[in-house]
Amino acid sequence: EDVDADLLLRQADQAMYQAKLSGKNHYEFFNLKQNDMLIERYEAIKNIKKALAAEEFVLYYQPKVNMRTGAIIGLEALIRWQHPTKGFLNPLEFLPLIADHPLSIHLGEWVINTALIQIEQWQESGISLVVSVNISAYQLMKENFVKRLSSILSAHPKVNPALLEIEILEMSRLKNVFRSSEIMIACKKLGIVFSLDDFSTNYSSLTYLKQLPIKLIKIDQSFVKEMLHNSNDLAILEGIISLATAFGHEIIAEGVETIEHGELLLQMGCELAQGYAISPPMPSEEISPWVTSWVNPKIWETQTSKMKTDLPLLFATIEHQTWVDSVYSLLSGKYSFAESLDHTQCSLGKWLENEGFKRFGENRYYLDIKCLHYKIHHLASELIALYMQGENFKVSQRVGELHHLQDELSLLLKKLGEITKS
Ligand code: C2E
Ligand code: CA
Ligand code: CA
Repeated sequence: EDVDADLLLRQADQAMYQAKLSGKNHYEFFNLKQNDMLIERYEAIKNIKKALAAEEFVLYYQPKVNMRTGAIIGLEALIRWQHPTKGFLNPLEFLPLIADHPLSIHLGEWVINTALIQIEQWQESGISLVVSVNISAYQLMKENFVKRLSSILSAHPKVNPALLEIEILEMSRLKNVFRSSEIMIACKKLGIVFSLDDFSTNYSSLTYLKQLPIKLIKIDQSFVKEMLHNSNDLAILEGIISLATAFGHEIIAEGVETIEHGELLLQMGCELAQGYAISPPMPSEEISPWVTSWVNPKIWETQTSKMKTDLPLLFATIEHQTWVDSVYSLLSGKYSFAESLDHTQCSLGKWLENEGFKRFGENRYYLDIKCLHYKIHHLASELIALYMQGENFKVSQRVGELHHLQDELSLLLKKLGEITKS
């Protein structure tokens, strides 16, 4: 309790100092806001300490699979708080409140310990799966991390340390790459495997990829979520996948919410996945029944990854589909059009003119595709013009045509994509 009061005072001091710096006018408002935040943090620290003692925390486990083979490759442990009055709380509702506080380290050690107990229980019932735990960069960089970890491990001598994986959160805070790499190498000697969580592309992530002894990188789920509709995110995803492959790391996508996401990831060469399409996180006792009943979607097992040269067609197809979707939205009054309606701006149109022509100009589908694509843009412009004139009835009579043409185009594009494989 003393430590907390002390921290509170120091932070209050700093808040005051900052408030003064930011000028007289801001002073009171700023001071009040800071004060609220400090009180909230102070309360959270007190409550989480109590909850830890009262054993109100529990780990849920979410499976990770290889989508091509259906193999279950591991489980991620995710913390939950069974709060006596507020009910079931997700980590983002309470962890940020104790970020960088020594208590977050106690909680982190509780997570490692609980995961090891669970691994041991599973081992005894014949389930041997890798379990990953989330560890903040703050915790990893603490001087005694390796010592603490090895003492927790030695309290569970029956557990093979290779079954414990650490997902490093907020890697941008691993400021000193050399030191982080030293710590990780020491942990690796204990048998621990590392992955980088929430990986995205920025300048510093490249340094980490090159220098840290990691096995796996986890693609940030924001890219995965958007990839079916946003070709920029798809391009970033492609970049991450090639980078990881170039550095010899495995790669896993999280936030795989639908079978379709999985299909596209497989086409892009990413086989490992985690997400609601496979299973939500579940309590430990549900894992064993899940493992026995898991059936990999058939369509995943038949996907093959596209060659680099086939990706532009995939991208263009998605961009065109997104464009058609926004036409539908506009026509149903849901959306005001911000993008260009010019079909020469369409990346599928560009692809058809240039690369597509060179590669498939002689193909029997090529002309049909080109013609359909043109018709779709033409019809869309007509419908939009009608819509602007308030002719909603006429629009509703003809919008089915657009659906029909687009379905036909999708089918032919798919066929074209399949030709390139054989
Ligand atoms: P994360 O490590 O990126 O974990 C993945 C999060 O995505 C989890 O949220 C999971 O339930 C959720 N998720 C899984 N599949 C899907 C999907 O298909 N769609 C969507 N929209 N979400 C999906 P959760 O459990 O709420 O955890 C949130 C974050 O809290 C984690 O993000 C991690 O950063 C942190 N966290 C969780 N457990 C721990 C822990 O024990 N220690 C620490 N330090 N952080 C933890
Ligand atoms: Ca994670
Ligand atoms: Ca993540």
